[in-house]
Amino acid sequence: VTEGRVRRLRDVGEHAWIGRWIGRLARDRGHAGVIIGPGDDAAAVRTRRGTLLLTTDTLLEDVHFRRGWLAPRDLGRRAFAVNASDVAAMGGVPRFALVALSAPGRTPIAELDAVMAGFSSAARRAGARVVGGNLVAATRLGITVALVGDAPGRIVTRAGAHPGDVVFVTGALGATGAAVRRLRAGRRASLPAVPDRVRAGVALARVASAMIDVSDGLLQDARHLCRASGVAAEIALDRIPVARACRTAVGRDAAAFAAVAGEDYELLATVPAARLAAIARLRLGCRITAVGRIVAGAPAVRLVDAAGKSVPTVRGGFDHFRPLPA
Ligand SMILES: [Mg+2]
Repeated sequence: VTEGRVRRLRDVGEHAWIGRWIGRLARDRGHAGVIIGPGDDAAAVRTRRGTLLLTTDTLLEDVHFRRGWLAPRDLGRRAFAVNASDVAAMGGVPRFALVALSAPGRTPIAELDAVMAGFSSAARRAGARVVGGNLVAATRLGITVALVGDAPGRIVTRAGAHPGDVVFVTGALGATGAAVRRLRAGRRASLPAVPDRVRAGVALARVASAMIDVSDGLLQDARHLCRASGVAAEIALDRIPVARACRTAVGRDAAAFAAVAGEDYELLATVPAARLAAIARLRLGCRITAVGRIVAGAPAVRLVDAAGKSVPTVRGGFDHFRPLPA
């Protein structure tokens, strides 16, 4: 076998590899207690006492952040918040967290303490508790979190969007993307905190047909939702809520940049026309903007201008093993 014949992770890509295993693991979905198996923002399982939401995510040095981009305390906060975002995207509330740290032996104790302090205080503020963890030696700093959440009401998945539904997004997009772009270029910028959308997620779960959090970029996450729902979407470029910091940093193309930048951790929700009136009555704790609509067709997302014409998108969103051109 020649070197070139070996299929590698970077040839397949993050989403295709995960998708293959979701297909294989789907056979276990018939197992008593599995309400939502792999493939959504979080899994949902039934226990004797009720339903639990389960999710896990990692922040790794030189992949998600570089030393110096974030104060250790903010890194800890961020590790909790990105996991809480996945629980929020199901309409859930964070309850219990496990945290596995990896760090080089040369790491100052004060630095690791600050990471944990940031993590545990973020958990406490969200009404969750850190109930365990692990520490291993590594060449780089990393935080892997497993988060358990409650589902106070309806659980919303990525599947369930129908043609005619309106696509909403909370908050504003592009601020983190603009900061990361500056940091990558060796310039100064502060990474915005991950927004807390737990309350918005619980409220939206009452009316949404489908929901996902925006981690890979608005267009890519809309694509994930479309694939799970078996529908297509049209997103209006001029409706995208662009963060002021993004507009300042990027200028004229800020909306197109915000559509693909990622790491916003806002919520993308689809709402049937019949439930639109209820949106205004929800106490979300943040702004919400209608950015497009669900249409019939093969799963795809079309970015359109004010006249309804397709706008070509340059970049496709984040994939760990298919790095985007700089
Ligand atoms: Mg997610």
